[in-house]
Amino acid sequence: MRAIQVTRHGGPDVLAFGNVDDPIPAADEVIVATTAVGVNFIDTYLRRGLYPSTPPYIPGTEGTGVVVSRGPDVTTLQEGQRVAWCAAPGSYAEKVAVPAAKAVPVPDGVDDEVAGSSLLRGLTAHYLLDGSAHPTAGDTVLVHAGGGGVGLILTQLAKMRGVTVITTVSSDEKEALSREAGADHVLRYGDDLAARVRDLTGGHGVPVVYDGVGADTFEQSLAATAVRGIVVLFGAASGPVPPFDLQRLNPAGSLSVTRPTLAHFTATTEELRWRAGEYFEAILDGSVDVRVGQRYRLADAAAAHTDLEARATTGTTVLLPTD
Ligand code: NDP
Repeated sequence: MRAIQVTRHGGPDVLAFGNVDDPIPAADEVIVATTAVGVNFIDTYLRRGLYPSTPPYIPGTEGTGVVVSRGPDVTTLQEGQRVAWCAAPGSYAEKVAVPAAKAVPVPDGVDDEVAGSSLLRGLTAHYLLDGSAHPTAGDTVLVHAGGGGVGLILTQLAKMRGVTVITTVSSDEKEALSREAGADHVLRYGDDLAARVRDLTGGHGVPVVYDGVGADTFEQSLAATAVRGIVVLFGAASGPVPPFDLQRLNPAGSLSVTRPTLAHFTATTEELRWRAGEYFEAILDGSVDVRVGQRYRLADAAAAHTDLEARATTGTTVLLPTD
């Protein structure tokens, strides 16, 4: 089969397209022929060596496709079934071995590109709202990178819950998308960001900040958080937050900071399918409109990484193995 490989740690140029052996299913795995493969920020952290990985390896964790064969212990999925997943290493390929427990059947009405490029972000948005924090109707939250993949979905799911959403963005295009997703206030980054958030909240700040940008925004996130509020630091698009003195949380307002990861909120098949079920339902009933912002051939994965890291993307990014 054809696949992308990370040949060594480094920039997008270390991504090589070529032929590799087909995957062989373990007893509890299915082999899926991919139709759409998701590109996520974590793929770039692993490629750069920021998170541990050992080249050469096939990158990617997310996609959609059709089950073409299964290991002997798999009883829950059938050949020909359409599934999506976001925890199967080696997804930048024409075929992927996916643990059956991690594969989610895709309902009719959710297309391959949407499922294959947004399940990871959709499940993340779901657990950020119902796991890491629990904002309820009438609360106001701050979402950084409101025009990005997670940001657009998180905004729409928060609006479904009656939450007021303030977002940050870096461009007019992203501002327009964030407003379309339902953001009530859209701000640009800057040293006075926290002051502007306080202006919008009667001086109190917000009870929850969702920060996937990291190094560049963390200080403003803390300063924008209300007494007894929480900063949910869920990513590092601008780089990791430097070591931090916990004592600072005391005078800042008895604040909490959490640094969650999706795997811990989808650890059982039951929790994975519950979150995926609610996410797909929100797509089907029109509450969430997933913007597939960029499409590339599988062979052009390096261009996808370049654009994602250059802040040049909006919404989700998909690789198409069949082009
Ligand atoms: P996005 O589509 O949101 O892209 C990242 C965005 O971050 C950019 O578009 C940009 O928006 C903003 N940004 C700000 N500063 C920088 C910078 N220096 N370099 C690059 N981007 C910057 O990505 P995703 O939706 O894929 O992911 C969003 C975040 O969520 C990432 O940090 C990712 O790691 C994290 N994540 C965490 C998970 C978890 O479970 N912990 C799971 C999934 C994702 P703008 O130009 O408007 O500032």
